[in-house]
Amino acid sequence: MSLKELFKKKDETEAEAVTPASEETAPKDTTSEKKPEEDEITCPKCKQIFPKKTVKDNLYVCPACGYHFVISAERRVRKLVDDGNFKLLKCKVAFANPLENPDYEDKIHALQEKTGLDEAVLTCVGKIEGNEAVIAVMSSKFLMGSMGIAVGEKVTNAFEYADRKKLPIIIFTASGGARMQEGILSLMQMAKTSAAVERFSKHGGLYISVLTHPTTGGVTASFATLGDITLAEPEALIGFAGPRVIEQTIGQKLPEGFQRSEFMEEHGFVDQVVPREKMRETLAQILRLHAKRGK
Ligand SMILES: [Zn+2]
Repeated sequence: MSLKELFKKKDETEAEAVTPASEETAPKDTTSEKKPEEDEITCPKCKQIFPKKTVKDNLYVCPACGYHFVISAERRVRKLVDDGNFKLLKCKVAFANPLENPDYEDKIHALQEKTGLDEAVLTCVGKIEGNEAVIAVMSSKFLMGSMGIAVGEKVTNAFEYADRKKLPIIIFTASGGARMQEGILSLMQMAKTSAAVERFSKHGGLYISVLTHPTTGGVTASFATLGDITLAEPEALIGFAGPRVIEQTIGQKLPEGFQRSEFMEEHGFVDQVVPREKMRETLAQILRLHAKRGK
């Protein structure tokens, strides 16, 4: 798919709010809530209503409380790289339907049409403040960013490309986990991508993992948590199983903020929580330090 095609997709659906898991079960006071107009959006955290354009111009972050809305994969890349320029990596993966699910292919085609992506991850090369890097961004809008054969292959291909070109790699993860529609073959992608990270790492490559909301399941249990440096967006849900599943399993109440970025940072799982507006300069700084070391 050409970049033109990729970008002609509309922004309207972009600022979709993802309710933090902790709020999903909170009782809603619908009586006092003002309904937003068509060109407006309500922040799920502070409940204030803003014009969609205001939120869009602020990198899809609430201007009042800093709530991070979901941002589409291509927009995230465009905002990250110099002058919005990047080159998609070529990696054709044939459609596979190992469980012969009758609706699966139509579903994928509909999502390709809707999101402008060929799969749940976009892989490209671009420069951040002049530092070239391979960048992969997962899309939670494409079957919950689930990892199937195509995602596993595209991520592996990105690592192999970065290895060949001696470039660092940055991956923004967002995933509900393994793709159930592809059965055990989706679980095998965990081993495949982890092995790709290992080879890349052995050759001295720098891998920066950026965890965004939500990063869960098989992606957490593979490449998302294998970075040399692990960053996270504020208040992102990061975990293997969801908090409710864990509570039901162990029969205990979990501590507040469990599986959120800030909790993960406090407990050493995340190196730094970086707000979206600081992401570009933070990544540029890390890339610069790495480039100097390599010389
Ligand atoms: Zn807000």
